[in-house]
Amino acid sequence: MIPYDQLSSVNQPYQAGFEKAFREFLEKGWYIMGEGVRQFEKQFADYHNAKYAIGVANGLDALILAIKVLDLPLGSEIIVPSNTYIASILAIIHAGHQPVLVEPNLQTYNLDPTLIEAAITKSTKAILVVHLYGKCCDMDPIHQIAQQHGLVIIEDCAQAHDARYKGRLAGTLGDLAGFSFYPSKNLGALGDAGAIVLNNDSFASSLKSLRNYGSHQKYQNDQVGYNSRLDELQAIFLSIKLPFLAAITAHKRQLASLYLTNLKSDFILPIVEDGFEDVYHIFNIRHPRRDALKAYLLENGVGTEIHYPIAPNHQKALAPWLEGKQFPISEEIHATTLSLPCSSCHEPSDIYKVIELMNAF
Ligand SMILES: *Cc1c(COP(=O)(O)O)cnc(C)c1O
Repeated sequence: MIPYDQLSSVNQPYQAGFEKAFREFLEKGWYIMGEGVRQFEKQFADYHNAKYAIGVANGLDALILAIKVLDLPLGSEIIVPSNTYIASILAIIHAGHQPVLVEPNLQTYNLDPTLIEAAITKSTKAILVVHLYGKCCDMDPIHQIAQQHGLVIIEDCAQAHDARYKGRLAGTLGDLAGFSFYPSKNLGALGDAGAIVLNNDSFASSLKSLRNYGSHQKYQNDQVGYNSRLDELQAIFLSIKLPFLAAITAHKRQLASLYLTNLKSDFILPIVEDGFEDVYHIFNIRHPRRDALKAYLLENGVGTEIHYPIAPNHQKALAPWLEGKQFPISEEIHATTLSLPCSSCHEPSDIYKVIELMNAF
């Protein structure tokens, strides 16, 4: 069996480091917001050459707080891609705003800059770009539009750790960026974790308070805050893994390149473009008989996933915002996309087996 992913095996190389760090953590007895969080925040900020990384409880909270801290008028419209994972859209709603879904480009699966302008109204205040599957959005035209209309750019980097656009890291391509370290992400913790990366001093100060009951000083609460602190133990684990992120990326790129060069042309492959250094959080292909292909691969011992099986505009939870709206490009992606094994737990020999099976489909 070639599983889609296997996290125990993904984390096996770090096990000795995790065990040693956990013993030290037990001895120290400092469980919340200790040296581990401070150290990871510094490491993650430095990695991005950014002024701040603020650790929070998970990726959804990172996006909610990144939007909250902007203090936009309630009910502002925020543009978001129509094919994103639901978290990006939920973040806008939880922050008290209106998600405005814009269709992606069918080759990149990312926001189509040419469609953004038509969606802008007087109430539009921000664009939430999502670097889906580990490919950065085409940021230059998006910046141009944002500048012209005075919009803030928030990045959803949950799938894009280490991805680059024109040489620059995802997380440094907008005004502020939300990251998730959910265990299956390219930089994954052993539980929930997230962070916001930014350079703005006053937003950073406010975020440090917002994630901790709106308090900078114990028992003094200046804002209606949350409890969304990055867990100390997860921060310690993430500090151990971060130095290996470049190796994780390189491994996934190597596996992706095998698919890209060897899969037959029946499959629509992810586009590779100059200036985009993709990290293949998800290696997806599209095929009109996706469900039959998925079943065939499973019968032959290959696990696959669908990102995502239900389009946001068909989610019951989002009906009040999206009911009756049409998103044909997103529908097409949701009906045809299939994610292939492409994880740290796979070897090139696994990928060659998947390719051989697929080319016989
Ligand atoms: C995983 C993910 C999130 C949410 O992250 P959590 O840590 O699970 O809350 C947000 N956006 C995208 C695109 C994701 O893939």
